[in-house]
Order: sequence, then structure tokens, then C-alpha cells
Amino acid sequence: MTKMSPLLERNEQFAAAYTPGPLGPPAAQVVLVTCLDHRVDPAIILGLQLGDAVAIRNTGGRVTAAVIDDIAYLAFLAEQLFSGQVAAEGLFEVAVVHHTQCGTGFLADPGFRHRAAEATGLPEAALEAAAVADPHTTVRADVEHLLAASSLSPKVSASGHVYDIATGRVTTVLDARHPQLAGNN
Ligand SMILES: [Zn+2]
Repeated sequence: MTKMSPLLERNEQFAAAYTPGPLGPPAAQVVLVTCLDHRVDPAIILGLQLGDAVAIRNTGGRVTAAVIDDIAYLAFLAEQLFSGQVAAEGLFEVAVVHHTQCGTGFLADPGFRHRAAEATGLPEAALEAAAVADPHTTVRADVEHLLAASSLSPKVSASGHVYDIATGRVTTVLDARHPQLAGNN
């Protein structure tokens, strides 16, 4: 017995009714960037089915260098594999979703951050950069950061949203936008 045992039983039920689908672009044409918080499961709060959307999850749902790398690779993969199946206006929309009551909010407090750095060995600056104290502010900053990334395909758009833990409601803060092309080249 492990803590996984009851979940594996659920998987048995899942597998019993399962039909595999072909590899294809995500049906909703969305790549979600969300917090790993178990109260913010994008499949549940956004009513996703298997194959609907890619979800990239990390602490806070922050647009880190690793997230930007993943998105660049996904865009490349989508162009290579699904060029005939994706909409002319773009490959997919990256929806960054930050949330209220995020556990990273504590990192905005210098004392807490200092203790966290000592205990984990992580740099204080990295911990400060991860903090989501005001999700409306951080989600705007992260969408702008993503849109400014040189590796972002012009065929990818980005939008920003806030999930309210108290109401279960997702509110759009920034509508989907494609990156500005640098100059006219
Ligand atoms: Zn969180």
C-alpha cells in the first residue's frame, strides 16, 4: 500500500472506459500556465477534457525562463506536426492564470523570504521573483514578459487571467495579444 493506492484504483476505472486518441494539437488551442496549487487544477476549474489544452504548472504560475523554453518548443512542435490542422491566425494562445491566496504570497515578506532562502538554499532574489502577492499585478507583468521574449513565435498569442479562490471565478485581466514584431523585419 502506498498513498497512491486509492488513486491507482481510480485509474483502473479510468482505463476501463478509455479510448486512446491520435496525437493532435490541443483541441482548445490553449496552453495554460498556472500555479501548482491543488486548489487551482485547470482541468477542473476550466472544465477541460483529455486532449483539450496543455498545462504548464509551477510555483505561482510564473513565466520563468523554463516556461518560455517549453512554449518555444511547443510552438515548434505544433508547426512541424500540425501545420495543416492549426488555425491560420495562430498556433495557440498562452493563458497565464495567477490566483488569489497564493502560497507564494508569503515570499513578499522579507523575513519569511530570508528564512525560506536559508532553509532551501534558493537565492532570495529568485524567491522574491516567484512571489504572487497581488495576482492582478503579477499576471500583467508575466504576460508582458512572455510577449517580449525573443524566442516567442509570432504565431503564439498570450492572455492574462486571475482565478479567485473564494468564488471559483476566472477574470480576464489582459486579452489575448500577439507579440509586437521588433522593427519591420
Ligand atoms: Zn499559488
